[in-house]
Amino acid sequence: MCGIIGYIGKQKAASILIEGLKRLEYRGYDSAGLSVISREFGVETIKAVGKVANLENKINGRDIGGTAGIAHTRWATHGKPCDQNSHPHTDCRKNIFLVHNGIIENYQELKDNLVKKGHKFSSETDTEIIAHLIEEFNKKTDFKSSVLKTLKIIKGTYGLAIINKKEPDKIIVARLGSPLILGIGREEFIVASDIAAIIRHTNKVIFLEDGEMAVITPENCEIFNAKNKSINKGATELDWSLEKAEKQGFAHFMLKEIFEQPTSISDAVRGRLVVKDGLAKLGGLKDMAEKLRNIKRIVIVSCGTSYHAGLVGEYMLEEYAGLPVEVEYASEFRYRKILLNKNTAIIAISQSGETADTLAAIREGKNKGALTLGIVNTVGSTIARETDAGVYNHAGPEIGVASTKAFTSQLAIFVLLTLFLGRQRDMSLITGKRIAAEMNKIPRLIEKILKQAKAIKKITRKYTRYQNILYLGRKYNFPIALEGALKIKEISYIHAEGYPSGEMKHGPIALIDGNFPSIIIVPSDSVYEKNLSGIQELKARGGKIIAIATKGDKKIKKLTDEVIYIPKTLEMLTPLLSVVPLQLLAYYMGIQRGLDVDKPRNLAKSVTVE
Ligand code: GLU
Repeated sequence: MCGIIGYIGKQKAASILIEGLKRLEYRGYDSAGLSVISREFGVETIKAVGKVANLENKINGRDIGGTAGIAHTRWATHGKPCDQNSHPHTDCRKNIFLVHNGIIENYQELKDNLVKKGHKFSSETDTEIIAHLIEEFNKKTDFKSSVLKTLKIIKGTYGLAIINKKEPDKIIVARLGSPLILGIGREEFIVASDIAAIIRHTNKVIFLEDGEMAVITPENCEIFNAKNKSINKGATELDWSLEKAEKQGFAHFMLKEIFEQPTSISDAVRGRLVVKDGLAKLGGLKDMAEKLRNIKRIVIVSCGTSYHAGLVGEYMLEEYAGLPVEVEYASEFRYRKILLNKNTAIIAISQSGETADTLAAIREGKNKGALTLGIVNTVGSTIARETDAGVYNHAGPEIGVASTKAFTSQLAIFVLLTLFLGRQRDMSLITGKRIAAEMNKIPRLIEKILKQAKAIKKITRKYTRYQNILYLGRKYNFPIALEGALKIKEISYIHAEGYPSGEMKHGPIALIDGNFPSIIIVPSDSVYEKNLSGIQELKARGGKIIAIATKGDKKIKKLTDEVIYIPKTLEMLTPLLSVVPLQLLAYYMGIQRGLDVDKPRNLAKSVTVE
């Protein structure tokens, strides 16, 4: 999620680390920090909340000794952005210093055990337990074995760079589920979560795989596999520009973020889905469990893409948690006289957690005595702070102005919420298990859709000349029709309308002719047959049709001009899949029209005005 970098060699480490952090800043900008190590001066750690520039200001040109060090730019997942929670983190004796990218799922139980053993913690992060575990093992065994033992007991994802005051000529790095790349320079090594921080120094790199660990000294680097066996890995020579490196080889942040969705969805549900009990474990709602059991009604407030996530959430919660749900545009909510009381929960959805309209809505709701919950991506943001409780998306920073991975992670959170609230009510164990098991498969299914990117690009070529598109969907996929239409408006400036398929005949069908194509989401679900009738009506008016259908549906091929297939899943989970081809369609349409898809005109990433 965040950025990490480590340097060991002959040059002063601090300035190299700072420069590297600037290249990683787009991955997280909650705080930045570094630790530089030397035999002479021990370890010096400097941290600053906010951008890397703040860290640089704190150093203020001071000469920091030491030719080895580690650094971090944080995208908070556990604990608000503040000095104490900034990386590097350390142990009680201040020997071990480390930076971490990822989430440790079982940190709470490990922390409880360590506290019992007398460890004192100075942050709220999941990361800090790693330093204390290494400290604990290091009492009986060497540094490397202590790291190995620690990695065996932590669950979750990590990219780690660790130093030890007692062994100043060494950096140990390890990865599982978070990227880590080793740059090989002349008598120096640069290790980072991202090529962008390395490419300036060397283009010779080794990509570490999950489960691998490396012990790096200024002269040498030894890599070990998951079984702790020393292995030889060949280096790769890269011909990437710095700009390309920041986007990890993708042409735009939007495309990179579309392709990140298998990871961002895994991160959203990681450690939260308990398949065997058909449950969702949500730390942020733990203290609210009893209050939530008594909730009789839910009002969801949000704007833009988040509003569409709310609409999908409405279908899920009504069907599986048996709760009445209303979804409101946050900007309208405050002008209505919505009846609220202590048995109503308001759920605010906002990627940035700073959306002014949504914030105003929850303040209004709180005034009227409702319980307020947040689904927010940015830890410690205003909405996260002002709501009574909430669930973080853990999608990582989203740079593209048009939301993609934040949207699908919002949908994933609604699946978790549906399990959480549903199992408190009438949802059976079997249903809970089925939803949880299927949800776990979604990231792999999205990978399959992403493999069709080229074919989707080809389809868009035939449609760039059109000025209007109608998006249709029914039930769970009606909100996805709205989202598809919004994406194409934002990215390609094509006029598009999202409609429930059944509404088409009550008006919009008047627009349809050979110049007005439609995109219809028609998975093999409970409303499939009804959607087919809609397709026939469009065809009869000469409109071109692109269908998003379930793999194996041959019938649809005969009825439509193009079909993009998505894999089969539970009906309630289809929106997580069907939106992906629509994101790609919008992206390629924008590219073919020569537009700046990462910064569409007139739009801002986080709308902090009402
Ligand atoms: N989970 C860690 C934290 O919240 C690391 C987050 C990151 O990857 O930046 O501090």
